[in-house]
Amino acid sequence: MAKAKVAFFDFACCEGCQIEMTNFGDAAFLELLNHIDIVEFREAISEKTTEPIDVALVEGSFTREADRARLEEIRRRAKIVIAFGQCACTAGINALKNHQKDYKECVYGKDAKMPHLDSAQAQPISAVIKVDYSAYGCPVNKYEVLQIVSHLLHGKAPVVPNHPVCVECKRRETVCRYHEGDHCLGVVARAGCGAPCPASGIPCEACRGFVDQPNETALKKVLKEKGGLSERRAEEKTLMFTANQRGATTAKHPEKSPALAAPQGGRS
Ligand code: SF4
Ligand code: SF4
Ligand code: SF4
Repeated sequence: MAKAKVAFFDFACCEGCQIEMTNFGDAAFLELLNHIDIVEFREAISEKTTEPIDVALVEGSFTREADRARLEEIRRRAKIVIAFGQCACTAGINALKNHQKDYKECVYGKDAKMPHLDSAQAQPISAVIKVDYSAYGCPVNKYEVLQIVSHLLHGKAPVVPNHPVCVECKRRETVCRYHEGDHCLGVVARAGCGAPCPASGIPCEACRGFVDQPNETALKKVLKEKGGLSERRAEEKTLMFTANQRGATTAKHPEKSPALAAPQGGRS
């Protein structure tokens, strides 16, 4: 069987999610390379392709009209499109600018009107093209990406977590940050990372966004009453990685999901 062609593409982002994949010497990843051909990956190889591809991992947000045609062209060529990282899934931290009118003047001062700085609201790529799956996180969890691609190669639909990080904290018996007099967004943050931050004594900042239908009122209440944050700080905290999540077009996960191979035996 021919190897699946996999390509990485980047839009408005820091490319940290691509870099995360280059920092991967795990045996399971090296095994995956026996089953895929990486045909475009700006952070790792200089080759580019205009050929059809099996899986497009698209990193970054849609922030300017000039990128629409390139996104559509990737969609035409790819059997499966994965929103790769939080910038692509929900617009991530890029969407903070959507809440501040004078962000360009704040950052660039008198140079704010230079043409190359022209950009619109940050949106997830699903605002422009159909997205089949999402790999959340800022940056992505490389083991989760490995699992998503591996599931697709086996004809299975990848599992997208929709439970809070607290569940993963409990699984690894981490003492809750609130018990340490700290605050934490893990009560409504989308799990799938394995809760490394609370395990290291750091509050979860919800870098994977929130679960579907998060109870933000309860979150802000607990941030204030148990976490000791001010009203303003609680509001800011809930925006950091989720500024565009409310009302954003995040990827749906269709029941009949595209896959690269016929389903194999066992549970899917
Ligand atoms: S999701 Fe985070 S790490 Fe990935 S490209 Fe965006 S800002 Fe960078
Ligand atoms: S530390 Fe955060 S994620 Fe972990 S159990 Fe407490 S609130 Fe939940
Ligand atoms: S614990 Fe929270 S901040 Fe840390 S990686 Fe997971 S979702 Fe991101």
